[in-house]
Amino acid sequence: MARTQLQRARSGEVTPAMERVAERENRDSEFVRREVAEGRAVIPSNRAHGSLDPMVIGREFATKVNANIGNSDETGGPEAELEKLHAAVHYGADTVMDLSTGSDLDAIRERNVAHSPVPVGTVPIYEAVKRAGDPAEITRELLLEVIEKQARQGVDYMTIHAGVLMEHLPLTDGRTTGIVSRGGSILAQWMEERGAQNPLYAEFEAICEVFAEHDVTVSLGDGLRPGSLADASDEAQFAELETLGELTRVARDHGVQVMVEGPGHVPMDEIAGNVERQQAVCDGAPFYVLGPLVTDVAPGYDHITSAIGATEAARAGAAMLCYVTPKEHLGLPDAEDVREGLAAYRIAAHAADVADGLPGARDWDDALSTARYEFDWRRQFELALDPERARAYHDQTLPGDNYKEARFCSMCGVEFCSMRIDQDARESGEMETLDAETDLSASPAAEVNLPPVGTHDAEGVPDEIEIDGVTFTPESADD
Ligand code: SF4
Repeated sequence: MARTQLQRARSGEVTPAMERVAERENRDSEFVRREVAEGRAVIPSNRAHGSLDPMVIGREFATKVNANIGNSDETGGPEAELEKLHAAVHYGADTVMDLSTGSDLDAIRERNVAHSPVPVGTVPIYEAVKRAGDPAEITRELLLEVIEKQARQGVDYMTIHAGVLMEHLPLTDGRTTGIVSRGGSILAQWMEERGAQNPLYAEFEAICEVFAEHDVTVSLGDGLRPGSLADASDEAQFAELETLGELTRVARDHGVQVMVEGPGHVPMDEIAGNVERQQAVCDGAPFYVLGPLVTDVAPGYDHITSAIGATEAARAGAAMLCYVTPKEHLGLPDAEDVREGLAAYRIAAHAADVADGLPGARDWDDALSTARYEFDWRRQFELALDPERARAYHDQTLPGDNYKEARFCSMCGVEFCSMRIDQDARESGEMETLDAETDLSASPAAEVNLPPVGTHDAEGVPDEIEIDGVTFTPESADD
């Protein structure tokens, strides 16, 4: 049987996937091997996923962002899902999870895998429910069949909610929002109706054998994650975490790569403690967190409430952030929501990487800041996290090509562009004279009252623009 990345790393082999990851992360390939061998990093890479460009998830590497896509009964077929996949990859998703629960599940999954350069994840219990018709009708055989089929289809990682146990369920009784994980609620219903232990837990070793055969990474789902601040860090959440620690060791014993999923909704001051606890209980397995949302009061803006928590989680050691879109709690995201969610999360991931001193992370910021100070607008757009949006916003008020060299923008306006004032002062060498006694009307800084010469004379410039109620024309540059 072919061996997994984990098994090969343990035997001292640097695989082509590890070489590629080292190149992408600008790290030594032996360092990558060691992190994978120790279980602190995973390279989700199903052998059947031919279009994959390997990537790594681990706290020593750049923080990654996952985008959830997928249809529901109400929306989307294979074509629409492929569009979402393209949107997710275009806007910077490092992995995608296909959470489809509607029709054409096999076609959607197979097409996604065939076209995706990033790892594809799934939650197989969703398909099991669709096929069984009712959660209580799911059998262990059906679960294994679905998992094996999806592994053969090339899925790189699967969320398995094997940590929700019968004995944990009473711990959720007093919760404000009960069990909010889809997988967790399905399995809780199954256990209650059947009076038997979670089948994913009972069959976990058999599942691991399937995963080892195809090198599917297991993502241990947190079926009891808190769905509100009131339920954060409670007994149910941490009881499940202990089981996830136990399952981490079982999976590794089978040579299966493991990451562990985390909450949910957590007050800011509890996030770092949550990450540290997961790292300790799960022997350093990469932590893959959903947000967490740091407040419950902002439906419509939960990409922001959660990106704040995600930044804090990544700072504390989370390795991958599952994005949240503005539609969270409200509806299925469309392509624009995917863009908004990914932008928020890429900011969170990068902010944490900069703060953590990840090698090279700050270079991006420094390059953009240099372009900004030099009024090199085109370079600034190129370097922007979302170049299309940066350019579009600039074009809203200053659409002409020549404004892409202008020494101001419409935010402060021509007169009050602080960077231009500063540049002029520096260039004049008279910065030291700008004190209380200085006659500003005679200082170089006073020149900012004039629009920048040479930037208003290109083709395609609108006849006039209005900034802060003041109308400028191309000619006014020469006044
Ligand atoms: S006008 Fe203001 S925002 Fe625009 S470039 Fe100058 S300092 Fe920056």
